[in-house]
Amino acid sequence: MQKAFKVTLTPNHNQQVLINKTIGCARFVYNRFLALRQELYNTEQKTLNYHACSQQLTLLKKEIIWLKEVDKFALQNSLKNLETAYKNFFSDLKKAKNKKGVGFPKFKKKYGCKQSYKTNLTNGNIQIIENRLKLPKLGWVKFHKSQDITGKLINVTIIRTNSGNYIASILCETEIEKYPQVTQNIGLDLGIKSYFVTSKGEVIDNPKYYRTQTRKLRSYHKKLSRSVKGSNNRVKAKIKLARTYQHITNLRDDFLHKLSTRLIKENSIICIEDLRVANMVKNHKLALSITEASWSKFVTMLEYKALWHDRIVQKVGTFYPSSQTCNHCGFINPLVKDLKLREWSCPHCHNYNSRDENAARNILTEGLKILAAAVGAPDALNAYGELVRPGVIQAEIVEVGIA
Ligand SMILES: [Zn+2]
Repeated sequence: MQKAFKVTLTPNHNQQVLINKTIGCARFVYNRFLALRQELYNTEQKTLNYHACSQQLTLLKKEIIWLKEVDKFALQNSLKNLETAYKNFFSDLKKAKNKKGVGFPKFKKKYGCKQSYKTNLTNGNIQIIENRLKLPKLGWVKFHKSQDITGKLINVTIIRTNSGNYIASILCETEIEKYPQVTQNIGLDLGIKSYFVTSKGEVIDNPKYYRTQTRKLRSYHKKLSRSVKGSNNRVKAKIKLARTYQHITNLRDDFLHKLSTRLIKENSIICIEDLRVANMVKNHKLALSITEASWSKFVTMLEYKALWHDRIVQKVGTFYPSSQTCNHCGFINPLVKDLKLREWSCPHCHNYNSRDENAARNILTEGLKILAAAVGAPDALNAYGELVRPGVIQAEIVEVGIA
């Protein structure tokens, strides 16, 4: 299993200069060869593959000596990235002609986007001892150690964030110590008021960090828009703003990591709604809470952690009326469509349902049903462990209603 460990580097002044230079050279190589490939295609309809580019790069280095000052792997990886960008573009063209795909490879900009370069491991050029990371050309760079980095090193990506911090993403081939097997299963219903409610009735509140940071963001945005273009104050305002955004991202990731790890540890099967987040964000009332909660990132974390620890994440289609169906008997109550109705009594079995918990139980029931169908078992149990066939029961109720 490959795992990336992210650490914050604390390079000294000379190392910072060299990292910036390397990032600059990697960008230069990328843009130079993109231009070359474009020109060759426009004039002679020829393409230049990675191998040909790599040969040209060797020649280029004799011409432009400052390219020799930096890590050679960074430049090679730039060419590989360009090759990948081309490949993605062409395979996208074949797949979907009408859809908007990844687009033609773009020139890399100096500002406004993530700045990075990647280096590979060969002959012990990268090493980690305690809180120091040895990198080609840079030597030993200190970093903040927050976790143990285990496994066989593959490569390292050095990133300079918009806020001016240096981060290393260390990719390792690692054995993951699996969590012990458990028998509990759980369903999650993405809440509107809360982050989600589980089928066991646990309510996870929306993290408050976004709102508390919003004020800060607003004031920094104001300062930035008032500052004169090209001024020192503008640069300062930009950095402050980027740092605040970075801080929010860190808080969010921390929240999501802790939450997803706990769920994976405690449960064997996790059933969730397959939400079209993009569709829901259009609804402005929900927009803030959904974006800030970043459901899709959370689902991604659940999915890869499930792979690590032999758990199952089962998605349930959004067409399933999870809020309206009584989990106890399967009766569909159309009145529950009203979002304001937080609790309801089932007209059929008189079971008292809390809106979100009931929905989470239905998501669990439906998820287990999908899984059972996949292995060939005909029926599924509801969250109480009872056999449930919603379709049949609904028909009965309609008849009772007429009588
Ligand atoms: Zn019922």
